[in-house]
Amino acid sequence: MTQYQTFEHDVIVIGAGGAGLRAAIEASANGASVGLICKSLLGKAHTVMAEGGMAAAMANVDDRDSWRVHFADTMRGGQYLNNWRMAELHAKEAPSRVRELEAWGAVFDRTKDGKILQRNFGGHRYPRLAHVGDRTGLEMIRTLQDHGIHQGVEVYMEVTVITLLKDGDRIIGALAYDRERGRFKIFKAKAVVMATGGIGRAYKISSNSWEYTGDGHSLAYHAGAELMDMEFVQFHPTGMVYPPSVRGILVTEGVRGEGGVLRNSEGRRFMFDDIPDNYKAQTADNEDEGWRYVEGDKNARRPPELLTRDHVARCIVHEVKAGRGTPNGGVYLDIAWIKEKVPNGAEHIKKKLPSMYHQFKQLADLDITTTPMEVGPTTHYVMGGIRVDGDTQMSSVPGLFAAGECAAGLHGANRLGGNSLSDLVVFGKRAGEFAAKFAKENGDGKINDEEVAYATKQVLQPFNRTGGENPFQIQHDLQEMMQDLVGIVRTGDEMIQARDGIEKLWNRTDNTFVSGNVEFNPGWHTSLDLINLLTVSEAITLSAIERKESRGAQFREDYPAKDPEYGKFNIVVKKDSDETMKLSRVPMKEMSSELKAIIEEMG
Ligand SMILES: Cc1cc2nc3c(=O)[nH]c(=O)nc-3n(C[C@H](O)[C@H](O)[C@H](O)COP(=O)(O)OP(=O)(O)OC[C@H]3O[C@@H](n4cnc5c(N)ncnc54)[C@H](O)[C@@H]3O)c2cc1C
Repeated sequence: MTQYQTFEHDVIVIGAGGAGLRAAIEASANGASVGLICKSLLGKAHTVMAEGGMAAAMANVDDRDSWRVHFADTMRGGQYLNNWRMAELHAKEAPSRVRELEAWGAVFDRTKDGKILQRNFGGHRYPRLAHVGDRTGLEMIRTLQDHGIHQGVEVYMEVTVITLLKDGDRIIGALAYDRERGRFKIFKAKAVVMATGGIGRAYKISSNSWEYTGDGHSLAYHAGAELMDMEFVQFHPTGMVYPPSVRGILVTEGVRGEGGVLRNSEGRRFMFDDIPDNYKAQTADNEDEGWRYVEGDKNARRPPELLTRDHVARCIVHEVKAGRGTPNGGVYLDIAWIKEKVPNGAEHIKKKLPSMYHQFKQLADLDITTTPMEVGPTTHYVMGGIRVDGDTQMSSVPGLFAAGECAAGLHGANRLGGNSLSDLVVFGKRAGEFAAKFAKENGDGKINDEEVAYATKQVLQPFNRTGGENPFQIQHDLQEMMQDLVGIVRTGDEMIQARDGIEKLWNRTDNTFVSGNVEFNPGWHTSLDLINLLTVSEAITLSAIERKESRGAQFREDYPAKDPEYGKFNIVVKKDSDETMKLSRVPMKEMSSELKAIIEEMG
C-alpha cells in the first residue's frame, strides 16, 4: 500500500483553463465525481490572458455567416491538414457554447440591438469573434469557475502532475506533487482528461506564461499516446519587441481587427505586396477598401493585415531581413491613424483595446492612441498535440482524453485567431461527457506501488547528486536553440543541428543538480519541466525535419513550396518499445461528400 496521500475520483481533469473547466463541468453534470488539478492558482490558467475573443458563427453582425463558412475558413486556414470532423463539430457547436456562457453569466460586448457583438479577425470571412473588450479570456474563466463551483468539482491547486499511472494499457490516475511543500500525491481515477495547454516556453521569445512547458503533451506521450502535427508551432505576428524585458508579450490581433495597420520603416503598408493566391478573392487590394471592411461595409474585402498569422509573421520577418524594420527589429503597428476616420478616435481606441492601451503605457511608456507600436513575431500556440478521436476526444490510450491546446486536430497547419477559445468549450464539453461515460462503463484499476516508487525515486534524483548541471542553464540553452534553429524560417541542416543538440541536452538533464529540499524549490520544478520541454522539442524538430515542404506555420527555406503529397497525411510521433521517438505518416481520412462540397463552394 502506498505511503502517499491518495484521492479518488471517477474523473480527474488535469488543467483548469477553459478546456479543463468546461470538461470538469460536463463530467460532473453527467454524474461523475470530479477532481480538477492545476499547477497554479485557480483563475491563473493561461486562458485568462486571451484577449481578442472566441470565434462562433452566430451571424449577429453579418447575417451571411454560418457554420458552413466557419468550417471552410478553419480548413483553409489549416491548409486542409485539419481533422475535418473536429472542424465540422467546432463550427456547428461553437454558437451554442457561446450562448451557454452568456446564460451562465458572461457579459459580452453588445451590438446596438442588444445581441452579442462580434469582431473581425484574421482568416475569418465575416466578423465572428464574440468578445469582452480585449479581456475575453478573463470573462470566460470567471464564468466557468463560478459555474463549476456549483457542480461540486473538487479543486487541487498548485499541484503538478508528473506521471500518469496505468493498469495494463489503461490510464487509472496520476502521480503529482504539491508545489509548496513538495509532497507527493496520488490521484486515482477511472478516466483522465488532459487540458494542460501549450509548449511556448520551449522557445526564447514567447507570449506564453511560465506554465507552458508542454506537460500534458509529454505526460501523454510517455504513457503511450500519439502526438500529431507537432511541426506546426504558431508564431503570432505581433508581440512586443521593446523594451527587451517585455519582448514577446502579445499584442492582440484585435488591434488589426479594429483597423490597425502594419508599416515598415519607410511608412509603407507592406502587407499589400504579397497576398497569397488562395486569399486573393477575399482580400482588399487598396487601403480604402480595407478601411471600409473595418467599418462594416459588406461589399468590401478584408485588409491584408487580417490574412492568416503564418503569412503575416513571415511578411514581417521579410521586411526586417530586407533592412526595412524598426530600430528594435520589428515593424510598426499603427492604430492611432484611425483618428483620421473615427470621431473621438483616442477614446474609441481606449474603449476597444483597454488592455493594449495600458500594456504599452505601463511597459513601454508609449501611448497607442498617438504613436505606432513596434511589433514582431512571438511563439504563441502549438497546433500539434495529443491525437484524439474527433467525437469523443479519447486518445489512443484507453481512459486518457485530451482537450484544448494540448490536443491536436482542429487547427491543422495553422490556427485562426479566436478558434482556440471556442475549441476549449466545444471539445472541453465533449471530453468531459465521454470521460464520464468511460468512467461509468469501466471499473477501478489497480495502482502499481512499484511504478509509483520508481517514479518518485527518479524525480528526486537531482537532490542526490553532489554536483552537476544547473537546470535553469539547460532550459536557457534549449530556448535559445529552438528559437534559432527550429523557428519561423527553417532549414534541414539547422534542424539536424537542433536534433543533435537536443540529444546532448537530454544527456545533461540526466545529470541535473538541485540544492535545498523539496519545499517550494523552483530549481527542482525546472529540473522536472526539462523532461517535458525536451520531449516536445524533440517531437517538433523530428516532425519538422520529416515535413519537406512549406505549409501553414512551417516554412522551410530549403523546401519553400507546398507539396500536394504532404497534404495527404499527418505526421505522428509515438514512444517506441526501445524508448526512442518513432515517426509515422498517418493518411488523412476521406472527407464526407457534404463537407467536400462546402469547401468547393467557398472557393
Ligand atoms: C496572450 C494571449 C492571448 C490569447 N488570445 C486569444 C484569443 O483572443 N482568442 C483565442 O481563441 N485564443 C487566444 N489565445 C490562445 C488561448 O488563450 C489558449 O490557447 C487557451 O487559453 C488554452 O487553454 P487551455 O484550457 O487549453 O489551457 P490553459 O488555459 O493554459 O490551462 C492549462 C492548465 O493546465 C495546468 N497544468 C499544466 N501542466 C500541468 C501539470 N503538469 N499538472 C497540473 N496542472 C497542469 C495549468 O496550471 C492550467 O491550469 C491567446 C493566447 C495568449 C498567450
